[in-house]
Amino acid sequence: MTEPALSLNIPGRISTIRTFQKNGGRVAAVFPIHYPRALFRAFDILPVEVWGPPAVDTALGDARLQTYACDIVRRGLSYLLAGKLDLADLILVPHACDSLQGLGSLLTDFVRPQAPVLTLYLPRTDSASGQRYLAEELRGLRGRLAEITGRQPDDAMLLAAIKTEEAANAKLAELLSARRQIPLADRAFYELVRAREYLPAEDFVPFADQVLASRQEKSPPSIPIVLSGIVPEPMEIFDIIAQAGGLVAADDLCSSGRRLYPPGQSNDPFERMAQGLLQGPVDSTRGCSIEDRLTRMLGLAEAAGARGVIFYLLKFCEPEQFYLPLLRKGLEKAGIRSVVVEGDLAGQPSHQVATRIEAFLETLA
Ligand code: SF4
Repeated sequence: MTEPALSLNIPGRISTIRTFQKNGGRVAAVFPIHYPRALFRAFDILPVEVWGPPAVDTALGDARLQTYACDIVRRGLSYLLAGKLDLADLILVPHACDSLQGLGSLLTDFVRPQAPVLTLYLPRTDSASGQRYLAEELRGLRGRLAEITGRQPDDAMLLAAIKTEEAANAKLAELLSARRQIPLADRAFYELVRAREYLPAEDFVPFADQVLASRQEKSPPSIPIVLSGIVPEPMEIFDIIAQAGGLVAADDLCSSGRRLYPPGQSNDPFERMAQGLLQGPVDSTRGCSIEDRLTRMLGLAEAAGARGVIFYLLKFCEPEQFYLPLLRKGLEKAGIRSVVVEGDLAGQPSHQVATRIEAFLETLA
């Protein structure tokens, strides 16, 4: 796909952190996956997500973890132990899976970094009781943030922050659903999508608007596919898909498509945040059913005109592995082909990954 004369100049994570702190704000290093961005912003804290930065030596983390810990946890811990998270004022480890729960315990009980470490449990149900439980968890988190910052944002400030984040979530959803009309290569497109992991919502939206304004009527002649997995790292995965003639036309990634939270309905800020988080797209780390995941994936494929799904897995990611056999069977029954490729966050994807993706896309051409 040809790149238009679209110059975004999106700031990177570190410069965003420095600017935010220079303006008097604090920064939270946040591990994946689901958490209340708005709650942090109401305390003038910018959440910056840590998806196990690829460029980090894992020796420090290796010494403290089992060999079967995934790369997000291994690299995230190594990054922290190497002092690279020292610029964060606090750390949040949501309980997305057993590995992250283990990391939360390791940090609070043994490593005890200088910055306070907070944890958050997300219930594995979106029922009314699950929402009540999560609202209480969020109230508890508000208490900790108040202790750390000395601030006491009221309900009106919380609701204002929630609405700003809801608008940014809607903009991300618009971007992803307009993907086939946006004349950017996948890699450039995902530089913007992934900026949602660290840019303040009010800075993300104008970039998204700029890209949405570049929409074209005609879709490019690429092979549309659904990309599923945790995080598209290393980003070279997009180059491999593009070189094989494919386009990521639908997103089932934890880092983006599975975090298109709808707006909550309640006027109570904590209930509203809980509703948004629990009513988001189906996700393995929220314990959603295989049937629901299949239904969503078929819907994504249909909307994007995709006849194939690439499952891009991280080694040792149990939540994702659990769904695969039945999910793939269901897709196949509906005439959607799929391929599973497994990698690490660092370095280039292996030749084997590239060959499998090329061969898979040939079958869809
Ligand atoms: S969800 Fe998977 S990749 Fe993410 S932290 Fe848990 S085990 Fe690792």
